[in-house]
Amino acid sequence: MTQAEANIGVVGLAAMGASLSRNLARHGNTVAVFNRHYSRTQTLITEHGSEGKFVPAQTLEEFVASLAKPRTAIIMVKAGEPTDEMINALADLMEPGDIIVDAGNAYFKDTIKREKAIRARGLHYVGCGVSGGEEGALLGPSMMPGGTDESWQTLGPILKSIAAVAEGEPCVTHIGSDGAGHFVKMVHNGIEYADMQLIAESYDLMRRGLGLTPEEIAEVFEDWDKGDLNSYLVQITSEVLHHTDAKTGKPFIDIVKDQAGMKGTGTWTVQTALELGVPVTGIGEAVFARGLSSTVELRQEAQDKGLEGPKAEGAFSASAADPEERKAFIEDVRQALYASKIVAYAQGFNEMEEGAKVYNWKLDLGAIARIWRGGCIIRAKFLNRISDAYDSGEQFGSLLFDPFFKKAVEGAQDSWRRVVASAVAAGIPVPVFSSSLAYYDALRSKRLPAALIQGQRDLFGAHTYGRVDEPGIFHTLWAADKSELKED
Ligand code: NDP
Repeated sequence: MTQAEANIGVVGLAAMGASLSRNLARHGNTVAVFNRHYSRTQTLITEHGSEGKFVPAQTLEEFVASLAKPRTAIIMVKAGEPTDEMINALADLMEPGDIIVDAGNAYFKDTIKREKAIRARGLHYVGCGVSGGEEGALLGPSMMPGGTDESWQTLGPILKSIAAVAEGEPCVTHIGSDGAGHFVKMVHNGIEYADMQLIAESYDLMRRGLGLTPEEIAEVFEDWDKGDLNSYLVQITSEVLHHTDAKTGKPFIDIVKDQAGMKGTGTWTVQTALELGVPVTGIGEAVFARGLSSTVELRQEAQDKGLEGPKAEGAFSASAADPEERKAFIEDVRQALYASKIVAYAQGFNEMEEGAKVYNWKLDLGAIARIWRGGCIIRAKFLNRISDAYDSGEQFGSLLFDPFFKKAVEGAQDSWRRVVASAVAAGIPVPVFSSSLAYYDALRSKRLPAALIQGQRDLFGAHTYGRVDEPGIFHTLWAADKSELKED
């Protein structure tokens, strides 16, 4: 009979599950491992069995029997139906008090439903966001578990043992009940989309605008990584830009198709933001930019039809030719990137605040910023400032109102405006730079043209409007004498 000795189990031993199992075993956990096809389990044990204590199982029954109580199993199988099948199969074999963890990228509303169903059976269900990819899973990811406080008692120490560590703290915290962990992971990914697109726009301005080589741009990013923009994404950008294609000897960036893929978390972030009424314009534009890059036929037709750009070819020619001007423009781009990045994070954090209200979560935004400092894709020095802002206890509606960020954006705005203006004049698309600036300007405008929209809506559809000088709801009799009716 199998001995119930494992304190944690992992189901699904493809790239993510195998790496997570090895990380768990390397940190003193006894790890039960199961995969639908036993060959993957065998490979794991043959190649990495010496890294720690594994308990391989050939059947799910054996796997469950090898877990000590409360049994805790992390599912790392293909998202969607296979995950649902595995949750049910495990729940059938487990007992009340046991814990099922879905560490895949699930949609938070599915996690809410699954948690409710599993809770009804007396078990705990934890939707856990995991960031850092395969390498993170092996060397230390950032993790965002939801679920009950009780499940965190068991799971917390296990996850802390394998999480990335940033400034002495493990990059994992109990995010909140049911779908909170997957919700926060979703927003993390949305911010990642904006961050990546902003870096891509910066590259484009230096490449197409200033005419720098990929190698020269790689050096600019290396330099930026030494300051406020210090981050994993900036670091890997230099690596990609330094890389030469082995087959052709060309810069790697020039042989890659310019069609960005996506798996859906960015889209979920934007859909959810629309439902919650939170304008995440930077993230939205970043998702649309990936979509637009992949409209291959449309883009080809635009080439075939010769869709023209601005007549003034080389709006950047002066900056490109003069080393001092070039240097100044690169600094402008750095400042624009910093300011736009602050806007993207401000919007993402607003989405989490609103989500917390609607779904009844108590999200600790300072703690969330802290667990994103290590292990995850958006890890960055800058997150320390965000956690400081939320930990200060000051109440503010947007990160942009925090004194540090307010000053940073105000200081960057002249550069930001020059960059957007130059890009527009040269016909280089900068959707996230420009939409973030538009968001900033809209936010600080005392009066917006929305008043005109309200007038139009009232005229064509009797949608009513509010007045600036009197409370209540009003409608104007447009077709008749244009007198005003107050509606109660
Ligand atoms: P895959 O998404 O490629 O899934 C392969 C694994 O799922 C294999 O173990 C496979 O078993 C198993 N599987 C597929 N269908 C079934 C089924 N019907 N029943 C049982 N098992 C099944 O693996 P990854 O390691 O790439 O990803 C695992 C999870 O982690 C996914 O949910 C994914 O979304 C998520 N992920 C998260 C990342 C992150 O950074 N957080 C990055 C990448 C993935 P078999 O070997 O028998 O075919």
